[in-house]
Amino acid sequence: MSPDASAFSADTQAVHSGRGIDPATGALTPPIHLSTTFERGGDGSYPYGYIYGRSGNPNRDALETALATLENGAECATFASGSAATFSLLQALSPQDHVIAPQSVYFGVQQMLEKILAPWGLIYTLVDTTDLAAVAEALRPNTRLVLIETPSNPQLAVTDIRAVADLAHQANAYLACDNTIASPVLQTPLALGADFSIHATTKYLAGHGDVIGGAVVTRELNPLFEQLRLIQTIGGTVPSPFDCWLTLRGLQTLPLRVRAQAAAAQTVAEWLAQHSAIEQVLYPGLPEHPGHTVAQQQMTGYGGLLSFLVKGDQDAAMAVAARTRLIARATSFGSPHSTIEHRASIEVGTATAPNLLRLSIGLEQVNDLIADLDQALSG
Ligand SMILES: *Cc1c(COP(=O)(O)O)cnc(C)c1O
Repeated sequence: MSPDASAFSADTQAVHSGRGIDPATGALTPPIHLSTTFERGGDGSYPYGYIYGRSGNPNRDALETALATLENGAECATFASGSAATFSLLQALSPQDHVIAPQSVYFGVQQMLEKILAPWGLIYTLVDTTDLAAVAEALRPNTRLVLIETPSNPQLAVTDIRAVADLAHQANAYLACDNTIASPVLQTPLALGADFSIHATTKYLAGHGDVIGGAVVTRELNPLFEQLRLIQTIGGTVPSPFDCWLTLRGLQTLPLRVRAQAAAAQTVAEWLAQHSAIEQVLYPGLPEHPGHTVAQQQMTGYGGLLSFLVKGDQDAAMAVAARTRLIARATSFGSPHSTIEHRASIEVGTATAPNLLRLSIGLEQVNDLIADLDQALSG
């Protein structure tokens, strides 16, 4: 048996949570349990605690234990994608419930609200959640959930988690915070009053660009989380055992990766900010960023993701991305491999500037990244 990981520091928890020594073999690395079904006792009981792979699986349990520990939550539910995690939480609400979400919410969430959940009966308002007065004004008697994303993708806007938690709770609403960009290494929303912390585990948690997954961690058991658990197990939005295993493996190096990526992102952001071809850099670690003070209070680092506006139009930005050699032109972030992406051509119809490029800092040497950006910007 492993010692209770929650008694240790976060770095130690990342290595040990959810990873007991296998009682059958003594293996330190857990086996992958692919079995869809588990033997019943002669009396009809389930002596091993498992029934069927959709309702429960040892690899999923291990991952959920580890994520609940890292986020200081009571329980975690994992999903087949980050989108399925947010979607399932929203689906746990009832038709005619009202939701507040950020104006610059992750594009996929905006799409699911507009195209799936509104026709199903959910009512929503998009507001600038960095503006507390706007959040207060948008709250209604039937508001059950306020969703924030901080820092946000791809604007890197910073929302004050504690202040919005207070506003939501005064209105008897839950607060869910998408913590994908910060990861629990740099920010623990539940400790700041959020009721749920959401992750696309696809990004930093799995961390190697080889898993699509999602998670919702709850601060305490409540009716919304119980409904979410039903959607996971009866609705069947579950991740595969192998994906859980890969994500749990990724967690072991999460603190080291995220701190290295954040340190390199700070260096790159400062370098870009003084470059003559750049109009603006969006990174909460820069003192001129409008969310810098709040980020300083609620984060222990500013993360590995940044965006920048190239001087000129969409073509100018596209041309910079076209010239990178080491940094791959690809979507997503949080991998060892640095990626750059022109977002406006993906998020058609949003406020994302046509000259914005989003840059995910990987684990390459920072000087190699700067050299690549330098040649791409001066080409
Ligand atoms: C990527 C992402 C998602 C969606 O995750 P998928 O695994 O791609 O479905 C949700 N929120 C944020 C902030 C993301 O970056």
